[in-house]
Amino acid sequence: MAIGREAFGRGAQMLWAQRRAGRLRRLQHSRLAALVAHARDCSPLYRDLYAGLPWSPDLAALPAVDKRVLNGDFDAWVCDARLTRSGVEEFLADPGRFGQPYLDEYFVCTSSGTTGRPGLFVHDRHACAVYLGMFGRLDATWLSWRDFARMELRGDRVAAVVGTGGHFAGASWVQFMRTVNPRWRRSWKLVSAQWPTDRIVAELNAHDPAIVLIYPSSLLQLLVPRERGELTISPLFIEVGGEAMSRGARQRAEAAFGCPVRTVYGASELDPIAFSCDADWLHYSSDWAILEPVQADFTPTPPGQASDTVLLTNLANRVAPIIRYDLGDSVTMRPDPCPCGSALPALRVAGRSDESLTFIDAQGGPVVVAPLAIAAAADRVRGTELVQLVQVGASELQVRLRVSPDYDDRSVWLALQRELRGFLADQGLSNVSVARSDQPAQVSQVSGKFRRVLRGDDGGDQRAAASPPARQ
Ligand SMILES: [Zn+2]
Repeated sequence: MAIGREAFGRGAQMLWAQRRAGRLRRLQHSRLAALVAHARDCSPLYRDLYAGLPWSPDLAALPAVDKRVLNGDFDAWVCDARLTRSGVEEFLADPGRFGQPYLDEYFVCTSSGTTGRPGLFVHDRHACAVYLGMFGRLDATWLSWRDFARMELRGDRVAAVVGTGGHFAGASWVQFMRTVNPRWRRSWKLVSAQWPTDRIVAELNAHDPAIVLIYPSSLLQLLVPRERGELTISPLFIEVGGEAMSRGARQRAEAAFGCPVRTVYGASELDPIAFSCDADWLHYSSDWAILEPVQADFTPTPPGQASDTVLLTNLANRVAPIIRYDLGDSVTMRPDPCPCGSALPALRVAGRSDESLTFIDAQGGPVVVAPLAIAAAADRVRGTELVQLVQVGASELQVRLRVSPDYDDRSVWLALQRELRGFLADQGLSNVSVARSDQPAQVSQVSGKFRRVLRGDDGGDQRAAASPPARQ
């Protein structure tokens, strides 16, 4: 499965298309009409959902969907009769096939389960070529010709510090790219965000990447070894995603690494959705996606106001159509043109609400734990339906757990406890206790949203949380 040539063509087309807002709108309009017609033709789930609607309806007339709707009837959603939920799950359960194309043509990833079973997402090869073209678009925005030449000189080496151990979008995509492209097999390096800081530092130093992709919390974890002179890499830029990063934290990281820290907003349903510009806004590829900021009742949120959620339409992927899909993020669209000059629509995304945890190790030093990394460790355990990790003290983690009905409650809990203890021990936190809470998982009182990792009201040593993320 080779997608390099098609991706190059898609990228070139996108650079041409992005110069004018009118051109982007025309492309969006024709691709949407084609996608809706295709979904009605080939996906029994969408055929039922759209029954009774005019043949060419307005986007706003189409019902919104979410992970529960699409994954609830996976076999009726997808547009290839060879794809079944059980078949894809069997493929994902085999660690030896991590990052390989499924049926030799599909990229498959899971989103971590906040409710019910994890979401399964399948992307076809044309969509993958478009996603690569989108990465080309952001490279072209972020890098000068001189930077491209420097990238080339450094062997195009990229390191991705992401959650591993499952088929999560980030790690799977990197491995998928390494599998389908022999050149990237050498130049792309996957580094587990769950590894101890010392090991991450050693791996990064050995690979000497020109670009680093990383969670903000993992980047903050690397500031102390950087400032001590132990982490010697010199990236052209650092790309963060998956969590919110404050402006202050970003400036500190930029000063420490001597390069810009850029942001990508992505999801298992489409990655990248949007990327940051010099004016500190995110721009989304409106020729290949539609973002509709909406209120809780799905009525439109005017530009300039924060929405309750946002509906995503992925115009590139035909095999498992994503049309008016509720992503759950609050976004604010910029009402006027962005000063950076881009014709792509500009937005800001409210921070995803998982929080960094700061524990105290046996020597009394603070250790920061990235929420996505510890959540990824929990996601490795099969049979969990809902997991919420709550720090309730300087060295105590409580787990609110609901086990799937077809699994044994006690064995799932013991496996989860073992996995979390192992993860914490790798971070130098063997002293942290992992106990099961008798409370059910709870949604936030403030946002009404479910957060998988949080600090409890009575815990999370605030003094320690304010200290630098050092391992003493
Ligand atoms: Zn901009």
